[in-house]
Amino acid sequence: MIQEFLKKFRKKSPWLLHYNAGSCNGCDIEILACLAPKYDLERLGVRNTGNPKQSDIFLVTGPVTMRSRERLVELYTQMPEPKVVVACGSCTCTGGVFRGMYNAEDGIDRYIPVDVYIGGCAPHPEQIIDGIVKALEILETKTKEIEQPKKLMGKITENDGQTDKTKMAGSL
Ligand code: SF4
Repeated sequence: MIQEFLKKFRKKSPWLLHYNAGSCNGCDIEILACLAPKYDLERLGVRNTGNPKQSDIFLVTGPVTMRSRERLVELYTQMPEPKVVVACGSCTCTGGVFRGMYNAEDGIDRYIPVDVYIGGCAPHPEQIIDGIVKALEILETKTKEIEQPKKLMGKITENDGQTDKTKMAGSL
């Protein structure tokens, strides 16, 4: 019951986990500007938290460095489903100006799946807010998919009052 209640309000109050995977701090300053009163990201219900186990949106900045990649994957796996990953800044999407360097990888999607890419070096607060709004829509879709497992099984029909499993997706 409490789980149903939480699902209903997830889109209205998503918690965000911000992780710097090796950024020059330019993108991080823009994220902080988004959370400050001028851009006020909290008006969308977003709350910045430091706990992956309570987060819905994983907001990553910077190229993945050799030393941060394990932490990146660890944080991602600790977040509960449904979750949305947002790559913030050119470095996070492709490696950006650090691409090809001996100590950096070429974007975070080499390690974890990314749902929203925000380009720019550094992206404007408006771009970041736009990316978070897209992430909220994806989060809502993912929540619905989890809420309705019947969709994963295809159309459910009855035969003599029993569920007809022969017509389910994936049945032989
Ligand atoms: S995208 Fe630009 S501002 Fe952001 S971490 Fe990379 S170099 Fe810094």
